[in-house]
Amino acid sequence: KAGIEDTDSPAAPSVMERDDSQPVIRLDRGGKSFGDNSVFSNLNLAVRQGEVVSIIGPSGSGKTTLIRSLNGLETLDQGVVYLKEKPFIAGREEGLSMSLPKAKTEMLELGMVFQSFNLFPHKTVLGNVTLGPHYHNRGSVGEIRASARAILSQVGMLAHENKYPHQLSGGQQQRVAIARALAMNPSVLLFDEPTSALDPETVGEVLRIMADLGKSGRTMIIVTHEMKFALEVSDRVIFMEGGKVVFEGSPDALRDEFCGMPVSPISSAFE
Ligand code: ADP
Repeated sequence: KAGIEDTDSPAAPSVMERDDSQPVIRLDRGGKSFGDNSVFSNLNLAVRQGEVVSIIGPSGSGKTTLIRSLNGLETLDQGVVYLKEKPFIAGREEGLSMSLPKAKTEMLELGMVFQSFNLFPHKTVLGNVTLGPHYHNRGSVGEIRASARAILSQVGMLAHENKYPHQLSGGQQQRVAIARALAMNPSVLLFDEPTSALDPETVGEVLRIMADLGKSGRTMIIVTHEMKFALEVSDRVIFMEGGKVVFEGSPDALRDEFCGMPVSPISSAFE
């Protein structure tokens, strides 16, 4: 594994202080192929509470497959995903000896935001955000609505609560999708290229919401092509190429590794 293993370094950045806690989510020896095409093998990933981890790298390197494997949207061949150190998902070659949760209510611990928003088109903004909590009996109708409105306000979408997805811009739809994920109060938020399908002028508003979530202590794993954003907002950046982690470390370490990369002011990451 490529990596920064210098937890003893006196200059270790603040992210290292969190290393004492156990990972919230961990992939151990993950392997996945599509037919003859091995996407990755023997891949390890551990993310701790409050960490913001960005996964970057060229197209086809396995980033999306990796993040979708963490919540079972792709079936792993080998390896095990642990949630709070309990086995959660096992690759199909792992055998059945492992005790895995049956009901998969643990899945609710993982909120997912997709490239293409995936909102329910026939539901209003508020309806999209309250659907999950209603379905999973997270409170009374009034409580769920109040909490959904608070979250919509957080992502700047409360004024649009009665609109339908088709009445919104891509950036607005993505902010609703983030609100919908937050409404289940997940332990980890997974983002799969959340700004790739957006018009350039709405990318910034989504990145800002994500940056705020990171600052507020949300645990997030983000597959992104937004290099500036990844450098500004992440505690740790993972660079994948050809299914391998070729670099893993703090944004500063990444800048050092790829020396000469311009260090941009925060504002330009959101333009
Ligand atoms: P990235 O997110 O880094 O662009 P992906 O995880 O999307 O990479 O893809 C990694 C590799 O897996 C690519 O070679 C891609 O063609 C292949 N792949 C991804 N999804 C599928 C699928 N559903 N069926 C077959 N091959 C796939």
